[in-house]
Amino acid sequence: MSEFLDQEIKFLPGVGPKRAEILFKELKIKTFRDLIYYYPYKYIDRTKFYKISDIRTEMAYIQVKGVLRAMETVGTGGKQRLVARFSDSTGTMELVWFRGIKWQKEQLRMNKTYIVFGKPALFSGRISVVHPEMETEEEMQLKPVGLFQGHYNTTEKMKKQFLTSKIINKFQLTLLGLAKGKIRETLPEHLITQLKLMPLEQALSAIHKPEQTTELKNATFRLKFEELFLIQLKILALKHNRKQKFKGFYFEKVGYNFNTFYEKFLPFELTNAQKKVIKEIRRDVNGTSQMNRLLQGDVGSGKTLVALMTMLLAMDNEFQSCLMAPTEILAQQHYQSISKMLDGMGINVGLLTGSTKAKQRKILHEALQSGAMQVVIGTHALIEDTVSFNRLGLVIVDEQHRFGVAQRAKLWKKNDLIPPHILVMTATPIPRTLAMTVYGDLEVSVIDELPPGRKPIQTMHFFENRRAQLNRFLQQQIDKGTQVYIVFPLISESEKMDLKNLEEGYRHISDTFPDYQISMVHGKMKPNLKESAMQAFKRGETQIMVATTVIEVGVDVPNAAVMVIESAERFGLSQLHQLRGRVGRGAEQSYCILMSSYKISSESRKRLETMVRTNDGFEIAEVDMKLRGPGDLEGTQQSGVGFDLKIANLGRDGEILQKARNIANDILDDDPLLQKEQNQLLLKNLLSSKDTSFDWSSIS
Ligand code: ADP
Ligand code: MG
Repeated sequence: MSEFLDQEIKFLPGVGPKRAEILFKELKIKTFRDLIYYYPYKYIDRTKFYKISDIRTEMAYIQVKGVLRAMETVGTGGKQRLVARFSDSTGTMELVWFRGIKWQKEQLRMNKTYIVFGKPALFSGRISVVHPEMETEEEMQLKPVGLFQGHYNTTEKMKKQFLTSKIINKFQLTLLGLAKGKIRETLPEHLITQLKLMPLEQALSAIHKPEQTTELKNATFRLKFEELFLIQLKILALKHNRKQKFKGFYFEKVGYNFNTFYEKFLPFELTNAQKKVIKEIRRDVNGTSQMNRLLQGDVGSGKTLVALMTMLLAMDNEFQSCLMAPTEILAQQHYQSISKMLDGMGINVGLLTGSTKAKQRKILHEALQSGAMQVVIGTHALIEDTVSFNRLGLVIVDEQHRFGVAQRAKLWKKNDLIPPHILVMTATPIPRTLAMTVYGDLEVSVIDELPPGRKPIQTMHFFENRRAQLNRFLQQQIDKGTQVYIVFPLISESEKMDLKNLEEGYRHISDTFPDYQISMVHGKMKPNLKESAMQAFKRGETQIMVATTVIEVGVDVPNAAVMVIESAERFGLSQLHQLRGRVGRGAEQSYCILMSSYKISSESRKRLETMVRTNDGFEIAEVDMKLRGPGDLEGTQQSGVGFDLKIANLGRDGEILQKARNIANDILDDDPLLQKEQNQLLLKNLLSSKDTSFDWSSIS
């Protein structure tokens, strides 16, 4: 059954096939629906009139009521222009046309009152408006525009074909006229009543031609709510669905492994946050469904230990566990620290990465298949089909943002009937609103406390003029026995130049500190060279590590207490925060010094100021989202759950989002499969979105 809004855009009066093609190419507008859901990005208040004497050239636009006094054509040939004098009681300004001169001359009536609208400029000492919009008082009254005029984003290609914001506005008005009484409501009656929402048809009309501010506000709320609510409904339906569909393994026992480790091997007290999260996990694995939990915790908050304790729980219940890390270095590091912590417990832990030799790999595969190996730590190599387990009960994924939903799903399938429990760990703090949307199908735990005794890292921002001071400081620190990281940007577009910068930086540092040993690590190095350089630094044989962002994730050298970031203005906020997290792991006071050039954009300045002001990863993530917008944040693209927000904004609409999520939850609690009559509209909507951005198949 086709609806009115499903009609192709070329059939809208005034559009036609040619403009339809451009609309599709440039804005993906194919149907009436696509057009009506293409919202203005701003409004211009057509109720406001200016006096000519008040006009300033900084104003974005002006609207003036006045009388046309004189008109003459100036210049010759291509340089010809039509200049008119336009006055009100306070002064006179000029109106100028370069095109359509003849037509304008015929249209305009001398000594008539007009309403002029346009962008003011200063031209040989006089205020002027080029190509103004002109209307008589009668025309103004007849026009069906709202008092606020919507402005629409257009592209260069569109402008060339005269598809301007004004034309889009005209199309919208035409469409709204035709659509009267034909737009079907998308939200069920009970929700509209409960939340006092503006009905859809009215909201769509008001969003394009609002008559008053309250009307615009109500329309905006309705459309934002709908957008966020439908996303939440999808995500939560997915979660409910999965809970129903998949049984989970029952880790009922807390036994020998967990208890022995806790009592005899654990080298320190757990923080309260760690205890809280372990409790949450135990509740998950003690239920009837599969755990799908996201563990967020700032760098150094002790997530690995939580992972380890969960693995011990799996072992107590005769299950195998695997821990997957995004890089070889990280996998090795986890392997070493976990093996060390478990030393003496008689647990068989393996390491499987891309560089594991064939012979070793074979032994490992067999041990996993027979169940002789209880824990395996590795990289993507773990996902390969050749790896099979005897009884895989727990999968831990470290640094989630590098793995997509599809990859997670592949690991689940390593157990035929019942999927293993999943714990995803990330040190990239995700703003709450984004987490609810991107990882909305996961339960979320947060470790919001660092282990005791850590001194907050001191962060400073230096310009080049303090280079000598920096060098003296580094000298002092190294003489005290501290190790130092110096990080250079390496961004793929300019890789060659960056590599040159890095090598020059390395030479410069070698010249400045001739008495110290220096390691260098970058992404273009062979893995084994990279590894041996890392190890030399870790063992304390070198004092300075010159590196690119390859050290960004997870590398742990407690004795390194100083992080210098060169050209810090070129890094994103979350990257700066990740890098800074490499220090502050030992007992010494740690420092992070951000070096930048003098010329930095205001956005870069804001990033550096934020770093200096706070160590709180969540605060940093919020600022990051406000600066960049959620779509740009690391992880959103790879998360596998696509969403395209047309009107809501995750940075600003957190409250509406929370409301939408609560209501979606209530509806699903009451009617999990959306079978009730009153929810049919929602079910239809959910099913129709299956083939769009949501990849349902990779999840279920
Ligand atoms: P994350 O993975 O969250 O960045 P790690 O698990 O690597 O953090 O822990 C960082 C450091 O803190 C490690 O050296 C770890 O041994 C130590 N650590 C973890 N938990 C505690 C604790 N409760 N008390 C003291 N030190 C801890
Ligand atoms: Mg870690």
